[in-house]
Amino acid sequence: MQNLSDTYNALSRQVASSDARLIAVTKTHPVEKIRELYELGHRDFGENRVSELVEKHEQLPKDINWHFIGHLQRNKVKNVVPIVSLIHSGDSLRLLRELDKRSDDSRTDVLLQYHIADEESKYGLTRESGQQLLASIQEDPLQHVRIVGVMGMATYTDDAEQVAGEFRTLHEIFSDLKTNHFQYDPAFTEISMGMSGDYEIALQQGSTLVRIGSKLFGERPTN
Ligand SMILES: *Cc1c(COP(=O)(O)O)cnc(C)c1O
Repeated sequence: MQNLSDTYNALSRQVASSDARLIAVTKTHPVEKIRELYELGHRDFGENRVSELVEKHEQLPKDINWHFIGHLQRNKVKNVVPIVSLIHSGDSLRLLRELDKRSDDSRTDVLLQYHIADEESKYGLTRESGQQLLASIQEDPLQHVRIVGVMGMATYTDDAEQVAGEFRTLHEIFSDLKTNHFQYDPAFTEISMGMSGDYEIALQQGSTLVRIGSKLFGERPTN
């Protein structure tokens, strides 16, 4: 059994060699685990629940880059905005409008989350709803929210071809948006895709941000 620092070093080399960045997903894990990676120089951590994010943020050094990766309810936006460096789960126009309203004089970076898996999910844009969102923003621009890329999750399956196809679809969506909406926007660069089980496929398909939990920290306790 490898220790955390060996696993981390091997994984971050692998991710860096694809010119991607590693987000260590620390949900359910104690702050000690985060400190261990922090001491090794890691700064990008991902959480999917607002209460857990707020608690961990309070207890840890303030130069951590927090990534919010779970569905974000609009009534919790005000707690997240002052803390996060990137919200991966921008999945509706109403959420973006609320983020814009709550960002005051600061700027909030967001990814558009697309539904690419063939599993049922309440969250994530389709190409069509994404188009509607962007049309609305074009008409009435966001002042404080900056859209810097896309995010998606593949189907949970052993079928590597299917997973590769879904990640390819997300990359195509990114390229279409880049051409049609963000051509002159140098900040629009990120494709957040890949988790413990499929990050190697995601890197092959051009991921720039992989979100990895269990491969680093072991299985999460289930309840
Ligand atoms: C939990 C989670 C991850 C990490 O999952 P692992 O399989 O443990 O690597 C990545 N992305 C999202 C959105 C998550 O909720």
